[in-house]
Amino acid sequence: MGKPHVIYCDYQATTPLAPEAREAMLPWLDGPGGTGFGNPHSAHRMGRMAAAAVEVAREHVAALFPAGGKVIFTGSATEAINLAMRGVEPGGMIAASAIEHAAVLDTAGALGAFHAIDVDAAGIAGLDGDLPEDVSLIAVMQVNNEIGTIQPVADWHERAQARGALLLCDAVQAAGKIEIADADMIAVSAHKLHGPKGIGALWVRDGIELEALITGGGQEQGLRSGTLSPALCAGFGAAAKLALDRQVQDAAHVQALWNRALELFDGWTLNGSAEQRWHGNLNIRRDGLDVARLMSDCRNVMFSAGSACASGSGRPSHVLRALGLSDAQAKSSIRLGFGRYTTIEQFEEAAEAIISAANSQG
Ligand code: PLP
Repeated sequence: MGKPHVIYCDYQATTPLAPEAREAMLPWLDGPGGTGFGNPHSAHRMGRMAAAAVEVAREHVAALFPAGGKVIFTGSATEAINLAMRGVEPGGMIAASAIEHAAVLDTAGALGAFHAIDVDAAGIAGLDGDLPEDVSLIAVMQVNNEIGTIQPVADWHERAQARGALLLCDAVQAAGKIEIADADMIAVSAHKLHGPKGIGALWVRDGIELEALITGGGQEQGLRSGTLSPALCAGFGAAAKLALDRQVQDAAHVQALWNRALELFDGWTLNGSAEQRWHGNLNIRRDGLDVARLMSDCRNVMFSAGSACASGSGRPSHVLRALGLSDAQAKSSIRLGFGRYTTIEQFEEAAEAIISAANSQG
């Protein structure tokens, strides 16, 4: 059976592995007789070779972040966020924007009552609202995963500092695409920037003390025990380097796709700000659209109803609701995500399939 013809338009859920990242991983997936399968924590030569590859990767990943901090490899951004939020043991209240990913919102909820920072109709967490007196940790993401809006993270960092609180920034959808804003702790994920799944990182500003979530052999400076995978680290490092090298080129390509998308989806309504946005995220709605039917009619186009994380739950997206959309509007929304490897022709084919299926709904 041949591969089905599919067009991938779900870049916020995950991204295709860059060939360069795959290449960088292969030497560390060696079998018997090879030299690349060493444990990076072993003292012998093979261990030191693997450890050196991990450190090269760490430098490439560190280049994504501001200066003055360290990179802790984790198994995912979700784990990085948990390490940050649980590891700082916030003494006071946590405040988090209402449009954070579940990794932040559910962790804040698990740690106790938290304050939700409202967003405006454009999907931006403005700085006007009150914060609890005893706020000690604020979480504001850089680029939203459902609607792509870019948050004023630098302003939030200033506000956090003025209140004596720490700022955690979920930069999963920003890393490698736009410059990561300054914060106290920053979480990223390799698979959103054309690296492998199964690895993320937490960047921690120098001077911030964290408690480990996972104890054991004391790897990652005692903050995340467990044997690192040199292959995953190398793939992450290569993907991060490539993303930085190609940042301008990738952004220009995404802009061209965005311009074409706006022409094709003329008459649909955009959810969230058009300007303060990563343009690889097209979240749009059309009154009365039956999204489940649309997805079944367009099986070859990989796109998402609302957020990939919430899809299947039947619940309308908390992000679209936070913008003030009704349940019906949220449920008639779709998200198309595109990027480095999406061609204009592929996008046109996907858009035509979706538009014609939507039109046939009457
Ligand atoms: N934060 C955002 C904004 C995301 O989009 C995602 C993934 O969907 C995550 C966090 C979680 O990342 P990971 O898959 O590495 O746990």
